[in-house]
Amino acid sequence: MELALISDIHGNLEALEAVLDEVDALHPDLVYCLGDLVGYGADPGPCVHKARGAVAACLLGNHDAAVVGLTDPTYFNPVAREAVEWTQRQLDAESLAYLRGLPLALSLDGALLVHSTPFRPEEWHYLTDTFIASRSFASFSDPMAFVGHSHQPVVFVFRDGAVTALAPPGRLRVQQGERYLVNVGSVGQPRDGDPRACFVLYETAGPTVRFRRVEYDVERAQAKILEAGLPEVLAARLAFGR
Ligand code: ZN
Repeated sequence: MELALISDIHGNLEALEAVLDEVDALHPDLVYCLGDLVGYGADPGPCVHKARGAVAACLLGNHDAAVVGLTDPTYFNPVAREAVEWTQRQLDAESLAYLRGLPLALSLDGALLVHSTPFRPEEWHYLTDTFIASRSFASFSDPMAFVGHSHQPVVFVFRDGAVTALAPPGRLRVQQGERYLVNVGSVGQPRDGDPRACFVLYETAGPTVRFRRVEYDVERAQAKILEAGLPEVLAARLAFGR
């Protein structure tokens, strides 16, 4: 079975539509979203509607949680907090109820899906180094886990008690005796220096992991952010993927 794993859409409808068009063309069996449908971008409502229609399940991200009062946004930076408050005013009751009902983690056969880290997902730790990756590997038993949250595609490999980090390969073939933590990158606000939307295809038989990048109309997404009166930096960063 092939799964498309998308994450961190952040209200960027142009990026989400481009990725879903690409997903349609590749026709995987199911699509899962690893969280943060909203926050930062100008189209939180349309992104919630569009994603709901496309995914088998979506997880709760920290921005989704903040928008519906499930996590304290005071630790957010001022720009993120402003976007959370703006987003709260854009969503209808049905979308807010949908976000409130999202789970923190999901187990598929052989893989764990979670927005932040396999340990204490509700604390929203960032999986950015091998130390946090080691702690993560100790807290779940599946061969694979897929995460979002940092917006930086990366693969952590666990073998013989040691963890190494790999720059996202185009294609990763799962090796016997290894376990993997895969950050699938971000659809709506990539931060690895590549402005193209990022997502992952996971073929469970094999198994293989493929990273995909998709161009989208960045200028249109930027114009909407400025028109909405959201902080300018949220528009500017999309052009650089930072
Ligand atoms: Zn995010």
